Amino acid sequence: MIKSKFTQKVNIKPLDGDFRQKSFWLKTLPEVSGIEPLKGSTKCDIAVIGGGFTGLSTAYNLRLLLPGVDVRVMEANICGFGSSGRNGGFSSTLFGMDKSLTALRFGKINAISAHHYMEDAVEYLEGIIEKNKINCEYEKRGSLLVATTPSQTRRIDQQIRLADKWNLEGFELWDEKRLADEFNTKEYHRGMYYRKTGLLNPALLTRGSVKMAREAGAIVHEMSPVRSIKKNSTGFCIYTPDGELKAEKVIFATNAYSILFSGLSAKQTPIFQNIIVSEPLSREQINSIGWQSRCGIDDARTQFHYYRLTSDNRLLIGGGNIKPVFKQKIDQDHNEKVFTLLRSHILKIFPQLRGLNFTHEWGGPVSITVDMAPAISFLGRNQKMLYSLGLMGHGVSMAPYNGLCLAELVAGKKTRRTEMFFVGRKVPSWPPHLIRFPLLQFISGIMKAEDRFRWD
Ligand SMILES: Cc1cc2nc3c(=O)[nH]c(=O)nc-3n(C[C@H](O)[C@H](O)[C@H](O)COP(=O)(O)OP(=O)(O)OC[C@H]3O[C@@H](n4cnc5c(N)ncnc54)[C@H](O)[C@@H]3O)c2cc1C
Repeated sequence: MIKSKFTQKVNIKPLDGDFRQKSFWLKTLPEVSGIEPLKGSTKCDIAVIGGGFTGLSTAYNLRLLLPGVDVRVMEANICGFGSSGRNGGFSSTLFGMDKSLTALRFGKINAISAHHYMEDAVEYLEGIIEKNKINCEYEKRGSLLVATTPSQTRRIDQQIRLADKWNLEGFELWDEKRLADEFNTKEYHRGMYYRKTGLLNPALLTRGSVKMAREAGAIVHEMSPVRSIKKNSTGFCIYTPDGELKAEKVIFATNAYSILFSGLSAKQTPIFQNIIVSEPLSREQINSIGWQSRCGIDDARTQFHYYRLTSDNRLLIGGGNIKPVFKQKIDQDHNEKVFTLLRSHILKIFPQLRGLNFTHEWGGPVSITVDMAPAISFLGRNQKMLYSLGLMGHGVSMAPYNGLCLAELVAGKKTRRTEMFFVGRKVPSWPPHLIRFPLLQFISGIMKAEDRFRWD
């Protein structure tokens, strides 16, 4: 047996727990059936670890590209337990931290191609939802970046100038009058509307993706946490509490949870984001705020707030201060300080909603690389292991599209996706945890101060 750094134990404790407690979307999901944990000893050609958007799309696309191949997805809890079942449901074209930073690190041409990749990602997801008739409350409402302070107004003007300079389509400047026609708030001074963003229910999308992967011929094992992986001369042996799976290739679709795997843990780091959701707004409350377009909204802070209406007219608000986690503590879902901040922020925007009850609060990990861009790559020299991580909190559209890219890499196809600059790259490592954690706390402190003194 060849010893490798993947002959290791995985800490599966953070993946325990009642999935229904992890988000409003998971709580309100209809009954989850067809759970098929891995039992006994079996084998397949390709094992995909992680049953979020990335893993399920990879399995689906592998079956389409290589119909004879036996593909199995291994998910520790139910599919959607991770960030895919906990996010805000914005299917957007955001990439990395922001366009200027991507241009600074990777050059202008790559930053523009990243935007086009994301446009394709949003369209690809729309096509998948339509083709597979996934009922995930998808609405193409667009999104609005709003300035709530004069400094944020300058930031939006810069963004508009950049979009013009790079010939990016779909952006509109909304002045104070246009904003006042749409919203009953005094807080909005400038807006950049972008028509291509979609909104959806992410837990329903995940369950629809499970069905889609199964119908394409992939086997999805839920409640099957991968406890260890051993490499041998022919491939890999993957162990769960009740079974073992031999596979020729392994794909790590674990994004922020990659911290649990030693070969990946330095490539990205998880930070926590939080969301709150209100009771459904009454007709009077809806009328009092305006918002006829029902577009998604972000503000122009660095640690931005984002908000939207759900299909049953609840107000969802997320973002605000991020929280780094120490080592593998990837189950720190609750953050009272952030929940309070989110409540007070939305009531500042719409004071007429005072008294509105917030019924659900949760959090989840987003995956951050040192250079603030995603990475899809082979692990090791023999091209038998691949990974996708570093989605930077923008995975609703990107993760399914990255799944297609991963499948194409395995199939040996050269496409516009596999040729992207973040595919096959070497990601710079985060330092060891004892340095990483204080460093992340320092960075989050700087972002907080920047928002307080520059953008708020
Ligand atoms: C609060 C929050 C809000 C967000 N809002 C948005 C948004 O509005 N728009 C947007 O574009 N993005 C958003 N994101 C980011 C987006 O949710 C993610 O980028 C995306 O879901 C990542 O998908 P994934 O499949 O790569 O990872 P995940 O969905 O995290 O899937 C990884 C899976 O791997 C499983 N796993 C881990 N270890 C093991 C193991 N040992 N064995 C078996 N399985 C394992 C986990 O249980 C998990 O289900 C948000 C994220 C958070 C946390």
